[in-house]
Amino acid sequence: MTQTARLPEERPPPGRRAALRSRRWLLWVALLLLVGALLGALMFLAAAYEEGRDQADLERDTEALASDIRSALFRNVQTLQSLHSVAPTPDSWFAGAAEVLQRHREMVRLEWRDPSRRLISARDSGYVGDLFGSMSRAQSLVQMRQACDTAQRLSGPAFSPSYFWPMGDGTGFELMDMCLPVARAGQSSGFLVVTYSLPAVLAELTDRERLRGRSLAFAEPDGTRLAVHGTIVDQRRLQRASSLLDLPGHTLMLRLEGPRNVGSGFLGLFPNLLSAVVGTLSLALLAVLILLGRDMRKRQQVEHELAGALAFRQAMENSLITGLRARDMQGRITYVNPAFCQMVGYPADQLLGHDAPFPWWPTELAEEYGQRQAVRLAGQVLPREGYESVFQRSDGTRFPVLVIEAPLLDAQGVQTGFMGAILDLTEQRRVEELNRASQERLQATARLATVGEMASLLSHELNQPLAAISSYATGSLNLLQDPGPLPQGDIRQAMQRIAEQADRAGRVIKSVADFVRRRQQVREPVGPGDLIEAISPLLSLQAKKLNIALQVRIAPACPAVVCDRTMVEQVLLNLARNGMQAMPLGEPPLASGQRVLSIDVGPMVRPPVEAGARDWVEFAVTDHGQGLSEEVEQKLFTPFFTTKSEGMGLGLSLCRTVIEQHGGTLAHEPALPRGTVFRFRLPVA
Ligand code: ADP
Repeated sequence: MTQTARLPEERPPPGRRAALRSRRWLLWVALLLLVGALLGALMFLAAAYEEGRDQADLERDTEALASDIRSALFRNVQTLQSLHSVAPTPDSWFAGAAEVLQRHREMVRLEWRDPSRRLISARDSGYVGDLFGSMSRAQSLVQMRQACDTAQRLSGPAFSPSYFWPMGDGTGFELMDMCLPVARAGQSSGFLVVTYSLPAVLAELTDRERLRGRSLAFAEPDGTRLAVHGTIVDQRRLQRASSLLDLPGHTLMLRLEGPRNVGSGFLGLFPNLLSAVVGTLSLALLAVLILLGRDMRKRQQVEHELAGALAFRQAMENSLITGLRARDMQGRITYVNPAFCQMVGYPADQLLGHDAPFPWWPTELAEEYGQRQAVRLAGQVLPREGYESVFQRSDGTRFPVLVIEAPLLDAQGVQTGFMGAILDLTEQRRVEELNRASQERLQATARLATVGEMASLLSHELNQPLAAISSYATGSLNLLQDPGPLPQGDIRQAMQRIAEQADRAGRVIKSVADFVRRRQQVREPVGPGDLIEAISPLLSLQAKKLNIALQVRIAPACPAVVCDRTMVEQVLLNLARNGMQAMPLGEPPLASGQRVLSIDVGPMVRPPVEAGARDWVEFAVTDHGQGLSEEVEQKLFTPFFTTKSEGMGLGLSLCRTVIEQHGGTLAHEPALPRGTVFRFRLPVA
């Protein structure tokens, strides 16, 4: 069978379904892992980026702090040189030194030494306690000398290495000496030695803003911290940066530590804002993925249901025996079902997209069909009950069809074409033909039955003319044998009678022959008189045998009727014969003394409400026999029902069929004073 649309895929077997499901799960797991890895990588990169940025900030700040300290130390050099701008006396120097120490907390001691490093005057800072209480200044002279040697060599300020100076209470701090050669009028006036406290240098010479939340330290190259300023609460996550503080005579390492930037701390998971944003976006992506997955599952389910519905529709279409065909507004074929393909004998792919003239149009009718289609497409008036047509199969054979077309509407209710259902009428026509043939055979049988009956009447009736012919012939012979002159007149008369009787016999035989002969059904206008005239010899035969008077009354100017003459004659004959047989010889006659069968014909009086309806002529056959018993009346029209020994029981059923085929009705009612009237009507010509 031709497939007109692709069948939905068959449901896979259970094993394959399970494999498909586990593959889908694997895909999901892989996707989730991938998204997780992406999320991790993004967070790691974001954290690394931010950490790098913080580190760079820290390093920049360390450089800036180192340069701050160096420039402050060099500014101090100028301040100190001002002490010697005018030739100081030890006393005046002492007062100046006090003032300097007052302003510079980072300095713990100022000394004025002569060119051979001997102390001329010295002043301690008031901010630190008794510095040389527990250990004498002599303990650090090595560093001072080293610095002054360098200073002399450089002719400028020089710094000594730092050294730890213990305090009496068990604490202590790191100190560093700076030696500055002082000269006046080109003459060296000795050295100015400043002792710096390293913790104070860190505290006093740096920018407080830069140090907020951080800790700054001078450190040894091995990491040992010499002096620290500032503390950090959380020691776990620290960032470090170092910078060298290059001073004449000594180099110090400056180290800045700061806490790592722990952003807003989203549950501590995200180290910074960027990571938080990336994380949130990734979570959103994951949520979207999950929603998408759910949507996909729903879609799959709907698709599955749709496939089921489609398969059902397909199965329905395939099992239909009615041909289905859809056409678009231009008359092109857009769909055909297997039944239609089978009907016309063409595969679907040859029909789809085909335009008029279609391959199933018989060649000689193609033009007529084309016009019909054009009218239908233009007017769009489609008869609901459909129309009959003839199609041609691919092998050239023709077959009758019933086509029912309806507009094809889309989901919006807009017409997109025409849907046609095509019924093959071949079988129906065959059954109709069979029916007609059997009907005809039935009629023939009934006629033959009548003829059988007539045969006995014929023999009786033919006896008369034959006997007459025989006696006329004998008389004539006798006359011819007589000697003497020929009585020509008598002989001619006898011959004439012979001819008349032979003619009469011939007519009787012919009327029977006419009646029996099968004829094609032809409707023609016939006068009621002619109908009765045709059967009158047969009627008279029977009437004479039964000694019944025949009374025929035809209304004056009665119109002709349209009918199949032979069949209506048969009906009249049947009804008249039944009537006569209902009045057997022994029956008591009517008051008139004569048994009468009457046939009345006249136009029907039409009631005014039926204006416009057709006109009819009514025939009534009335007998005055025994009438119909209730039992007989019930079975009257049942084929083969008869009360007569020689009857066939087909007469009345045949009569009714014939009259109904003419559009009339056969009815009966009791006659007055007794007997039965059978009436039927035929359309006026
Ligand atoms: P048949 O004449 O061969 O019996 P019909 O079909 O003509 O077959 O009639 C069936 C039966 O109806 C008859 O046998 C008869 O009993 C009854 N019948 C028909 N016409 C009349 C009539 N005019 N009066 C009484 N009985 C009748």
